[in-house]
Amino acid sequence: MKVLVVGGAGYIGSHMVLMLLDRGHEPVVFDNLSSGSRESVLGGTFIEGDLGDASALEALFAAHRFDGVMHFASFIQVGESMREPAKYYRNNLANTLNLLEAMQRHGTNHCIFSSTAAIFGEPEYVPIDEHHPRRPINPYGFSKYAVEHVLSDFDRAYAMRSICLRYFNAAGADPQARIGECHDPETHLIPLVLQAASGQRRHIDVFGQDYDTPDGTCVRDYIHILDLCEAHLLALDRLARGAPSAAYNLGNGNGFSVNEVIDAAERVAGTPIARAHAARRPGDPARLVADSTLARTELGWRPRFDDLETIVRHAWAWERRQVLERGTRG
Ligand code: UDP
Repeated sequence: MKVLVVGGAGYIGSHMVLMLLDRGHEPVVFDNLSSGSRESVLGGTFIEGDLGDASALEALFAAHRFDGVMHFASFIQVGESMREPAKYYRNNLANTLNLLEAMQRHGTNHCIFSSTAAIFGEPEYVPIDEHHPRRPINPYGFSKYAVEHVLSDFDRAYAMRSICLRYFNAAGADPQARIGECHDPETHLIPLVLQAASGQRRHIDVFGQDYDTPDGTCVRDYIHILDLCEAHLLALDRLARGAPSAAYNLGNGNGFSVNEVIDAAERVAGTPIARAHAARRPGDPARLVADSTLARTELGWRPRFDDLETIVRHAWAWERRQVLERGTRG
């Protein structure tokens, strides 16, 4: 399949490109490099462009006939979305509309959309299934929720079929450490913990120790990036076979606390990691764990890397590679 990977230079998108190439597909990356990097795109066609640029989109769809679109390009920082909502609605919602309209004009009718657990807001029960009420509590979550609505309206009006995949905590890296997680600034727990393990930072701040969880720290559902990418392929296949639009929650169903993540990182890296007690981060629910039964039954999805240590081991190999490269660059 010829697949347009929007945001293919970012963390998840670049792993998706690798998997598409491995499986004999033809990825075309469209990315404005606002946070991703050109070096992370290890094959396929690369086009630098912005979803805000309607003429660039028009040229893209005029030049290629895509079997499907995977849309990863969005801003993802909850805190920033509270301070700069316009930035989030502009990029995550308005620019996505440009993409969907270009798809519609050119008869590209299959879209896999990167959604998020943030559309659910404060959990009313855990694990969170697809029936859980959707009440986002920040502009980031709202922007993704709004796109889910747009997609369902596009389905009804234009017969555009889509699958929304609501990620819980994407983590890990290519097992060969060719690419990995690299945000600037980095805000995610696992890369920060591993930077502390490799001496790039002095300690890890543990945000809140008095949550209603077994050890008092927040529990999250960490899902290996390759398992996430696998779900995208299954979803695109499913649409290609004529299935209706759908939405699936993607996690591996195991919750791990912040302390358990740090413990796993200490075992993997073989070094103690200093923990500092920090205040709760605003907007962090105590527990976010996915019920992915629907993805398993309808998509036939089976997470392969469902133990935390493997996820951390792959992220650690990538962290060490980056440290070595920084050292070589002097
Ligand atoms: N966290 C932490 N210290 C950090 C970064 C994150 O204690 O320096 C916690 C955060 O409060 C949350 C969990 O780690 O409970 C996962 O956070 P992350 O930002 O990786 O993902 P999120 O759950 O926000 O999508």
